Amino acid sequence: MTQELPSAARAVVIGGGIAGCSVAYHLTKNGWRDVVLLEQGRLTGGTTWHAAGLVGQLRASRSMTRMSRYGTELYARLEAETGQATGWKRCGSLTIARTPERMTVLKRSIAAARSFGLEAEFLAPAEAGRRWPLMRSDDLVGAVWFPGDGKANPVDLTQSLAKGARLGGARIIEGVRVTGFDIERGRLRKVRTDQGDIACEVVVNAAGQWARQLGALAGVSVPLYPAEHFYLVTKPIAGVTPDLPVLRDPDGYIYFKEEVGGLVMGGFEPEAKPWDIGRVPDDFAFQLLPEDWDQFAILMENALHRAPCLETAEVRQLLNGPESFTPDGAFLLGEAPEVEGFHVCAGFNSAGIANSGAAGRALADWIVAGEPQADLWEVDIRRFAPFHANRRHLRERTVESLGLHYAMRWPRMELKTARPLRRSPLYDRLVAKGAVFGGKMGWERALYFLTPGTPEPPYGFAKPGWLPAMRAEQRAVREAVGVFDLGSFGKLLLQGPDAMTVLERLCANRMDVPVGRAVYTAMLNTRGGFESDFTALRLAEDAYLIVTGTAQAVRDAAWIKRRLGGARAVLTDVTGAWSVLSVMGPKARTLLERLGPDDLAHAWGESREIDLALARVRALRMAYVGGPGYELYVPTEFAAGVYDALLEAGADLGLRDCGYHALDALRIEAGRKAFGAELGPDDTPLEAGLAFAVAFDKGDFIGRDALLRQREHGITKRLALFRVEDPDAFPWGGEPILHDGVSCGEATSAGYSDREGRALVMGYVRAEDPATLKTIASSHFELDLAGRKIALTYLAKAPFAG
Ligand SMILES: Cc1cc2nc3c(=O)[nH]c(=O)nc-3n(C[C@H](O)[C@H](O)[C@H](O)COP(=O)(O)OP(=O)(O)OC[C@H]3O[C@@H](n4cnc5c(N)ncnc54)[C@H](O)[C@@H]3O)c2cc1C
Repeated sequence: MTQELPSAARAVVIGGGIAGCSVAYHLTKNGWRDVVLLEQGRLTGGTTWHAAGLVGQLRASRSMTRMSRYGTELYARLEAETGQATGWKRCGSLTIARTPERMTVLKRSIAAARSFGLEAEFLAPAEAGRRWPLMRSDDLVGAVWFPGDGKANPVDLTQSLAKGARLGGARIIEGVRVTGFDIERGRLRKVRTDQGDIACEVVVNAAGQWARQLGALAGVSVPLYPAEHFYLVTKPIAGVTPDLPVLRDPDGYIYFKEEVGGLVMGGFEPEAKPWDIGRVPDDFAFQLLPEDWDQFAILMENALHRAPCLETAEVRQLLNGPESFTPDGAFLLGEAPEVEGFHVCAGFNSAGIANSGAAGRALADWIVAGEPQADLWEVDIRRFAPFHANRRHLRERTVESLGLHYAMRWPRMELKTARPLRRSPLYDRLVAKGAVFGGKMGWERALYFLTPGTPEPPYGFAKPGWLPAMRAEQRAVREAVGVFDLGSFGKLLLQGPDAMTVLERLCANRMDVPVGRAVYTAMLNTRGGFESDFTALRLAEDAYLIVTGTAQAVRDAAWIKRRLGGARAVLTDVTGAWSVLSVMGPKARTLLERLGPDDLAHAWGESREIDLALARVRALRMAYVGGPGYELYVPTEFAAGVYDALLEAGADLGLRDCGYHALDALRIEAGRKAFGAELGPDDTPLEAGLAFAVAFDKGDFIGRDALLRQREHGITKRLALFRVEDPDAFPWGGEPILHDGVSCGEATSAGYSDREGRALVMGYVRAEDPATLKTIASSHFELDLAGRKIALTYLAKAPFAG
């Protein structure tokens, strides 16, 4: 049935795959009726029609797992609601471990799943074999059983969502291609199609592997790239029944699922094959790519080992369908920073069936409320910058990112491809000093320093090989002086006569401070949660330098720009213009005074322009790691000269290069919180113990009402710091914290303290009754370290209070 194209709609969703249909469905559930979904071909004709249909629930974090649980609940009830079958079956899933290290991963996932409220059970190899009788289990170390997981028929499920959307009032129009967008002063006005224009408030780019090229038509970067992706389908095999659980064998990179009495076997090979097509053809509908048995060989070999019945099974098809992958393996959700009203829901990394139910709801909630309604940071499109959409970068990264699903996810594991990307002016110097780097927002950042030439220690779960080096860095900072290259900090310059009033409205702390002063502040959403936290340095009456976390620059800039309204203020990202050298420790001042004539006795939180070696720098007296120290804001072109001078002058003071692992551990020791760990959109300053940075008396600001309500009713979670009593236990973050034996949250951060000779963890303690949180000090806490319970001591004060 052809439908006439309307000339206007409130929301236009582009793409009739599972993602677009889910967004349209959830917009109507939110009460939006005037929703149009456009599909260039027919519904499901993109990647959706050939998905295998595995649906797992466990994700890396509490908020993402909560989302994915919603997805399975939706899939379970959708058929009853719409009358259209979904093929949903709660068959459970089994993940097996071939090595002790993988078993540790699985045990950690059992602990996390239980903490998030999911059922998960450890199985010995023989028991795993009984649940999946066709499998060889004699070489296994163990397995985990997730009874809530299942499978669905991707086409039926999508049609069911589409039917639900139609029942809610949405119009779904097939055979219409979007060809462009009208944008006025950064705001979306119209969607252009091959059959006319549609004026609209909101557009959702749910165009799957086409989303990058579609986004480009609006100047929006959508960093995803297609890769060839395979599974094999057999004819019926004796013993394969519809109830057979999904089986994942990550050490062999493979999965199995029942389909029409046969097996679907696919996987995630460690070296993927990007689909080098240049531009994904518009008419690539209900199509596949040629078989490639060479690329599939590693999966086939492992599958024959695991399920010997495949040797005699008849192969119906080796399916090769392209799917899009992102640089970090997580999908892309939210309003694009470049264009107001332009939202993205794409890049599903071969988990779009499992994730679209929840992603569609999260995006619809975001659109309707005007801001995200949950912590979506892991999938928020603003975690990427335009450079991430560079096609060579994407292509190189895709070779690695496809395999991430089943790769060993070691703690603090770094990706290898498309690096080094963004380099500080000190990069080569730090390489020569033995730095081992990690990547964040494309920046190469020194994690720790080894004696040059020493091989990088292997990943593991126990105490890492870099611990001695990191402890020496900590000692330098606490006892002498250390220097950190923190140039990757995001730096945003807000200038104009209204700069101060803008910040007063957006920030929780008092921003009208004397010129030269720095303020630490939260930037809150209307729910009172952290959209960001940063330090704003007042450079002039009408100018602030906002110094934010490395990963937060795009996010913060988008948040601020969207809320400028008609204010006379301009925001510019000046991240690359300034280096930041952080000189920390009791001898920091002595060191700096050796390099220039200026007095450095200014107050904590004050900054001054000083002469340093041959440069003029801004010295801010502030220390994220606690204790005495200065952050030096150095014009990038002077950074190398200043660094060399510091190193020369500091040799006899015990100056040491320090990296991010030490920085993180030291800030935990000093009780400092970090965005993305302790602080996020679902956490308020009252819960995080940061009420001191909220100026309730300054007048209105975003989030104030929510905080006042919370102050009145009391909080139901509170951030706490703990010492891990077993000196040999080494937590990495993410482990459940048990409050009187019951999980109350997870470690948001973990760091080893040299002073304490053991690890420290932070995490939220949750309790329905606000009064319970008052009794924290007298409660009994433990950490669930892959099933082992380790005693924790609650610390009312941070061990390093300097
Ligand atoms: C081999 C294989 C196995 C998989 N197995 C699983 C699995 O077991 N579990 C799981 O969760 N996921 C799986 N997936 C992934 C899943 O298929 C995808 O993540 C999901 O289908 C993506 O849905 P989508 O709606 O984002 O994209 P698509 O289904 O590709 O939909 C995008 C739509 O946008 C339309 N479009 C593009 N440009 C325009 C335009 N300009 N105008 C109008 N329309 C446009 C396209 O025609 C297309 O229909 C698998 C994928 C593959 C390839």
